[in-house]
Amino acid sequence: MSNPPLLEVKNLYMHYHISDQEIVKAVSDVSFSVYEGETFGFVGESGCGKSATCRSLLRLIKPPGEILSGEILYKGQDILKLSPRAMQQFRGRQMSMIFQEPMTALNPVMKIRDQITDALYFLKNRKTEANEYAVDLLRRVGIPLPEERIKEYPHQFSGGMQQRAMIASALGPKPGLLLADEPTTALDVTIQDQIIKLINNLRDELKMSVILVTHDLGVVAQMCDRLAVMYAGRIMEMTDTVTLFSKPRHPYTYALLGSIPTRANRGKKLEPITGAPPNLANLDPGCPFKPRCRYAESVCGEELPEIRELKPGHWSRCHFLDKAESFQGVIEDYQQ
Ligand code: SF4
Repeated sequence: MSNPPLLEVKNLYMHYHISDQEIVKAVSDVSFSVYEGETFGFVGESGCGKSATCRSLLRLIKPPGEILSGEILYKGQDILKLSPRAMQQFRGRQMSMIFQEPMTALNPVMKIRDQITDALYFLKNRKTEANEYAVDLLRRVGIPLPEERIKEYPHQFSGGMQQRAMIASALGPKPGLLLADEPTTALDVTIQDQIIKLINNLRDELKMSVILVTHDLGVVAQMCDRLAVMYAGRIMEMTDTVTLFSKPRHPYTYALLGSIPTRANRGKKLEPITGAPPNLANLDPGCPFKPRCRYAESVCGEELPEIRELKPGHWSRCHFLDKAESFQGVIEDYQQ
């Protein structure tokens, strides 16, 4: 990547201080960059820190959660240093977020029109223009009869339409970066597909970047240029999507890829990942994946592996990178 990144996150730590005895290490030593116009994905099991990372970017962490250290540079400016007021203006205008549950973002007692036009700071005092712009946004996200539907309340919309309305509201201020946290998980497969295509199209049309959080490798394969695999609050592997699916270099990534049905393994027995992710309030000193890793050796229980760059842009956190399997996956297997 020759241009400087739009977003650069360096050594981010975010923990929940439940009590002096219980500290949940939700995000630890997370570093990554997002470039203009690309979709960057976070993938991993529930509770691995991907949503917590995403919320930290917008400083949406509530006590007892706290960002302890790190830098979040957006166009070179560290947003952790912004005042609360400046941060409020930053949200939406520069970075917007869409959630799994649209009703967490939409106000149930406000008409859709008001929810969208409220965020149009750059059109203020021009009511007609804001209304036209909001109708256009609803049309772009595929809501039929937008001139009529804009006068309705969220409960009058179906789940898929609420998701579209939330996307329209998030895109209204033309953010440079859209954070999408499990945007399709609560939807049925047909609507899921439409929302994926919609976000991809809007990303290209509006020339914005997207950070996608998901546990669904099929969605990642369809949407992301690059991605990070997270486990126990840390990035385990990070590379471009094609490489991750065809030449992964971390045992947790092998396990994830081997546990889901694809065209290639149709009819074969899937291999679920045995065991459960660790308790983030009680992490052992070594590699957090050790209890579930079939390559583990004694050093894995003693020392946390550093994340290392294997070749430009491909990072992995494992003591035994030379043990990489020849993995015969291809990305097309997952794009269904
Ligand atoms: Fe497995 Fe050890 Fe690598 Fe961790 S460091 S992923 S336990 S081989």
